[in-house]
Amino acid sequence: MKILFLDQSGKSGGAELCLLDIAKAYQKQCVVGLFEDGSFRSLLEEHQIPVQVLSRKPIQVRKDSSWRTGLSSLGQIIPLIARVIEISRHYDLIYANTPKALVVGALASLVSRRPLVYHLHDILSTEHFSPANLRLAVTLANRSALVIANSQASRSAFVAAGGRPEITEVVYNGFQPDHYRIENHSIRTELGLENRFIVGHFSRLSPWKGQHILLEALTHCPDVTAVFVGDALFGEQVYVEQLHRQVEELELGDRVRFLGFQSDVVPLMQACDLIAHTSTAAEPFGRVIVEAMLCGKPTIAAKAGGALELVNHAMNEWLVPAGDATQLAKMIHQIRQDWQGAIAIAHQAQTQASDRFHISQINQQIHQLLTQVMQDRCPLKQVV
Ligand code: UDP
Repeated sequence: MKILFLDQSGKSGGAELCLLDIAKAYQKQCVVGLFEDGSFRSLLEEHQIPVQVLSRKPIQVRKDSSWRTGLSSLGQIIPLIARVIEISRHYDLIYANTPKALVVGALASLVSRRPLVYHLHDILSTEHFSPANLRLAVTLANRSALVIANSQASRSAFVAAGGRPEITEVVYNGFQPDHYRIENHSIRTELGLENRFIVGHFSRLSPWKGQHILLEALTHCPDVTAVFVGDALFGEQVYVEQLHRQVEELELGDRVRFLGFQSDVVPLMQACDLIAHTSTAAEPFGRVIVEAMLCGKPTIAAKAGGALELVNHAMNEWLVPAGDATQLAKMIHQIRQDWQGAIAIAHQAQTQASDRFHISQINQQIHQLLTQVMQDRCPLKQVV
């Protein structure tokens, strides 16, 4: 089966890291078409995955843009669709990994008559999307042969917005568990943070990822240090400045480190005592939560969206209301009070997550679904 993957981003966000792991399984029979050049292209190349940058500059439409902005970008989108039509004739299937890839892929698939699969990594609701973009995404996704939702939460939001339940399957992100067990014992010393209790936060810097909530929580936890890993990937510079101002105003300077984007988060995650996930809106999946479990770390997550599906029964107790800094601080304190108990729960979660989110099992599920799409399309042809 030859697959044309499409993704709008040049940067490695969660959806792109998920795509990387899926595309690895089709290395010799796929190409990834990107609508923007950037570090994600290099990452794909590092893994010997064929990649083509299909557009010279990023499409300016955002999730919350109006239909007017959408129309003004047509001059850019039409040549892109023409290019995708041309390329897709050499592939069996178009796999759109992001909303803009869905728009381009859906229109191209009409002409090239290749089946379309949409991997849904978003909660399709007006909290994140403008009404016009939401309607467009649902209408085009409904034309796909298959929608792969990254959680029940994403699936439910899609169906509530008018998505067709009968074409929608939930497949969680996959991970390579062994990778998350690698430790680097010198990191604490390098950071000058020996003997501190470190809470790690691993996310791009963005208001809805809630780094400000953890900063606020620190004011109630005087002997806790926070390490923030991640950068503003999509132009959230104002928020970055706001975070630095907040550190100054709350006089947290010696208890906070911003380490920027790291291509491998594992050694830093392993160096933390506890991981906090503080998204203020429902997370569609929340890769960081699974990664923290795979590292065997006690993990506090915001009680919304995909997070509720990822954690095991015992870890449920550690979920806190989204956006509530006081509850977050209380939970950090509570976990520290029974540290041995917390470590036991975290180790149990590590074993369960290693099984439940194992990349080989997840890739098998995806392969079966794609094979079914091809078989439904050409019942007499054997799909390899
Ligand atoms: N991540 C990373 N480097 C960083 C910060 C984050 O590689 O400096 C990774 C993180 O480990 C996770 C992904 O980016 O795999 C973020 O995915 P998630 O689902 O948590 O959030 P998204 O960015 O997709 O909203």
